[in-house]
Amino acid sequence: MDLMSAKYAVFGQPIAHSKSPQIHEAFAAQRSQALKYERIAPNENEFESAVEAFFAEGGQGANVTLPFKERAYAMCKVRTERAEQAQAVNTLWMENGQLHGDNTDGAGLLADMIRNLNWKLINKRILVVGAGGAVRGILGCLLTAGAQEVVITNRTFERAEELAQQFNIRAVALDALAEETPFNIIINGTSASLAGESLALPLGILADSAYCYDMMYGEEPTPFMQWAQTQGAEVSDGLGMLVQQAAESFYRWHGWRPATVALLKDMRDASTETLS
Ligand code: NDP
Repeated sequence: MDLMSAKYAVFGQPIAHSKSPQIHEAFAAQRSQALKYERIAPNENEFESAVEAFFAEGGQGANVTLPFKERAYAMCKVRTERAEQAQAVNTLWMENGQLHGDNTDGAGLLADMIRNLNWKLINKRILVVGAGGAVRGILGCLLTAGAQEVVITNRTFERAEELAQQFNIRAVALDALAEETPFNIIINGTSASLAGESLALPLGILADSAYCYDMMYGEEPTPFMQWAQTQGAEVSDGLGMLVQQAAESFYRWHGWRPATVALLKDMRDASTETLS
């Protein structure tokens, strides 16, 4: 396909901060090709018509982020199994005149933890904190990683219970976590870090040599990452997940897997330079 004439976009509101154009353009550059990838911020009641117009005008593929992933899911005529599990779609394309949808968030998280960070998930006890759209998007993939057990907790416990039922895992209330066998891996899938808040996790919840992953990313370690570091855990933010979910979308659209490690390093170096 001639990427030069191809048109891609990310839909979200707000969207000005999105790194997706930078990431997809860098992926295309690996094949010495340019790609047009824009940010689109439709008004709340215009998401569906904006997506329809984008594809009617020759759009080849679109990413979708907050707050439109569930609405993108509802629009799709054909969905992948992982999109069905997540009930949310972050990757759209047209095929045989029908809108198709996938959810690449869970695959992105797994690729970052296993391939980039070299974390071992097999036989590990994993605690997932949060029960919003992001957690719904990752649980299906996470359950394929060979963990001994995946447990979910959330500030509003009923929401954790709902997801636990759907994915056939155990939900534990935050104030009952102290009685659990320590976890090898904790994944923060809440937006607490956005508000600069840490999580109300009990001391002793982490096993030795634990890993802690915050799906949020920013220029500084999040409060959750700082908490985990003081407990001796190895930590990561969610920038690698962002790059890897984009790589999965790119593969879906172009049938070609881009390299991610150098780009991720460049993005980290750039944010360090901004700080210094
Ligand atoms: P939602 O609004 O759907 O869900 C928010 C979740 O966070 C809920 O479980 C909510 O709990 C919990 N929460 C919010 N504030 C607090 C707090 N102060 N203390 C404890 N829990 C809190 O958001 P999403 O699920 O869509 O997104 C969650 C995070 O994941 C965001 O930070 C987002 O940036 C990140 N993300 C990262 C991606 C990546 O590629 N790296 C991809 C997708 C998301 P309650 O139910 O009690 O309200």
